[in-house]
Amino acid sequence: MSFSSDTKNELAHIPIEKDCCAHAELSGFMRGAASVSLVGLGRLGIVAKTDNNAIARRIKSLLANLYKEPVRLMIGDNPFDQNIHEYQLVIDPSEAAKKIIARTGMMRFTGGETHMRSDIDKKLVATKCCRKAYIRGLFLGAGSINDPEKSYHLEYVLSSDEYAKAVRRLISTFTDLHAQTCKRRNDYIVYNNRADEVGDLLSLMGAHAQVLKYENTRIIKEVRGHTNRISNCDNANVDRAIQAAIEQTEAIASLDFNLLSDDLKIVAQARLENEDLNATELAIQLSEGHHKDISKSWVQYRLKKLVSLARDVS
Ligand SMILES: [Zn+2]
Repeated sequence: MSFSSDTKNELAHIPIEKDCCAHAELSGFMRGAASVSLVGLGRLGIVAKTDNNAIARRIKSLLANLYKEPVRLMIGDNPFDQNIHEYQLVIDPSEAAKKIIARTGMMRFTGGETHMRSDIDKKLVATKCCRKAYIRGLFLGAGSINDPEKSYHLEYVLSSDEYAKAVRRLISTFTDLHAQTCKRRNDYIVYNNRADEVGDLLSLMGAHAQVLKYENTRIIKEVRGHTNRISNCDNANVDRAIQAAIEQTEAIASLDFNLLSDDLKIVAQARLENEDLNATELAIQLSEGHHKDISKSWVQYRLKKLVSLARDVS
């Protein structure tokens, strides 16, 4: 299994707590993987394709739960590779299919007119939880990630320039996250290839087990690089991460906890109790302890803030 399909398998099994997010995920998937089929008299149906069994079943059950609509799941062989199955989710032309097309933001129906949409329906991504779910759905439908052993790269392969830009803007609504766009043959790619941000994107989508694997690989690669540097150079530096943790612990020890905001208190406490964890591991531990998604950059920002507060005090 590739790192990418492991990521999709994990994402296809995470629970969705709210209907709004279920709908946002479905919509992201549809925009990434579905096309509208037109039969006579303007009747519209939907065909969505994936090569991943878990994704096919997840989308089928999302459709069933949200729309109570019968979906046909067909399995065929990929014409280019007999070892890969291709799963087709088919919703036959009907009023229900049209409703799904409109509500998931694939097309707009105004008056008697029908338009393909190249934007993202604002209603679908109005809240942070839904923005994450939409990005996850889009990844399930049109995304992939490279094995971090080889390179840091996560991308979404999309069919229009304008939609790619809309996705890039959506990603940049998250603090410290950016994406770039480029054209590859007939596709428009939204991608990120910065080591820390690819990890943040994984965690934002909810692939926490894969984040751990990803960050471990990064650390091992860094240590490998570090060992090479040490053997090349007698003046070995103390590992930057360890140095930073020592500096943060000392800084926090010099601060008056009563004067800190709640966020800073949480991070300061976590750092004092776990001197050997890096920011990613702290973020994961805090997320579990507080039952919400806390990103590495959220933790890093506050650790920096604590260090600079300590400097101001001294
Ligand atoms: Zn939501």
